[in-house]
Amino acid sequence: MPLRQAQGVSRRTSLPGVPLLPSRVDLVIVGAGIVGLAHAVEAISRGWSVLVVERDARAVGASVRNFGHIGVTTQDGIALSYALAARERWLRLGKEAGFAVRETGTLVVARADDELAVLDDFAARRDGDAQILTRKGVTDRAPVSPRGVTGGAFLPLDLRVDQRTAVAAVAAWLNTRRECRVEWSTSVVGLEPGSGVTLVRTTRGDVVARRVVCAVGHEVERLFPVAALEAGIQQCRQQMLRAEPARSARRAIGEIGPAVLTGTSLLRHDGFAWSPSVARVRERLAQDRPDLLEAGLNLMVTQLPDGTVTLGETRAYGFTHEPFRSQALDDLLLAEGAALLGVPLQAIERWDATYPSAPQPFLVSEPMPGVSVVSVTSGIGMTCAFGLAAKVVEEALRS
Ligand SMILES: Cc1cc2nc3c(=O)[nH]c(=O)nc-3n(C[C@H](O)[C@H](O)[C@H](O)COP(=O)(O)OP(=O)(O)OC[C@H]3O[C@@H](n4cnc5c(N)ncnc54)[C@H](O)[C@@H]3O)c2cc1C
Repeated sequence: MPLRQAQGVSRRTSLPGVPLLPSRVDLVIVGAGIVGLAHAVEAISRGWSVLVVERDARAVGASVRNFGHIGVTTQDGIALSYALAARERWLRLGKEAGFAVRETGTLVVARADDELAVLDDFAARRDGDAQILTRKGVTDRAPVSPRGVTGGAFLPLDLRVDQRTAVAAVAAWLNTRRECRVEWSTSVVGLEPGSGVTLVRTTRGDVVARRVVCAVGHEVERLFPVAALEAGIQQCRQQMLRAEPARSARRAIGEIGPAVLTGTSLLRHDGFAWSPSVARVRERLAQDRPDLLEAGLNLMVTQLPDGTVTLGETRAYGFTHEPFRSQALDDLLLAEGAALLGVPLQAIERWDATYPSAPQPFLVSEPMPGVSVVSVTSGIGMTCAFGLAAKVVEEALRS
């Protein structure tokens, strides 16, 4: 994004049949993923006028490519406080905007004693928010295969949304509000700071804003390379699948209410990290299943409304990834998913997804006066965006 000094001249572009953008608003948000939209929800609740500008004709970034898991309980530190705040906002917004936010909880399946030990440690710290389950308790909660299951945990606070429709529903609701417009197929191509305002250059003309929030997900690195470099951001690339029972399967998957996490998820979520048994899980996997660690597997399943499952995820970190999708990683996901659910699976959709990853879970930076760059740098944006946005907007109000 070319960042030039303010020239103060505002150009308006009129396209046939396309309404003009407003010439002046309190807040321009760049990006209509969950992070951008969460800022819009917070800002209009404080009486700001908001314009959300999204490059694509609808959101197709990380916010629709994920599991739709609002995994509150497994967060830690500031992420946990954002997640708790976000939980209330999801529930309220679901009612107001008319989309399902299901209080399904999360089921963590342990298939080794060291995994159960991590869950025991976790439950001892989480005071009722994590309930330890027997093997039968696990299979009663979700149709997972009993094979190898040693027990598990149920995390009742956690929520589920349909990730393919929830973000669109939030955007549609925002567009019904007098204070907000979400404009699609419009790219922001430059920001020019002026005195007390920023000139936002878009492909449909210029808008003057009192404040700007850039919520461009993993593209933060391209648009704000210095902020991204200082934060140590890399790209975490994932392979994901939508799956259903293979033609050879003799049974359906059954109804899966909660998000289902597994032993590899214990290595992924910060809430488990302090347990000494996490190291034992990692050592055992390094010994017995190095392929899972090499693939960066966090084996996890959620169910879509049509009964098919979202199955993931493999993870690779770097600055620029190969564009080629690995069949071996897809096969690994299908095999591990089938072992978990006890049903042979076939892929019906495959997609790659990227989120920015850094040592700190969130990037909030102000590269120029009045412009905030906000990115969730730990792959937990569905869980935390609303809590993070509330903090950013409150701080902007004070400044
Ligand atoms: C595979 C996967 C699984 C995940 N699972 C979960 C989960 O279950 N639970 C959870 O909490 N989190 C999960 N996450 C993380 C979560 O999805 C992300 O943290 C979150 O979606 C990030 O939202 P965002 O708005 O920052 O990014 P995005 O959704 O990527 O949105 C950024 C938007 O900015 C737009 N944009 C970029 N540049 C411009 C420009 N110049 N002008 C206009 N628009 C622009 C893009 O088009 C895009 O729509 C997962 C992530 C992945 C990849």
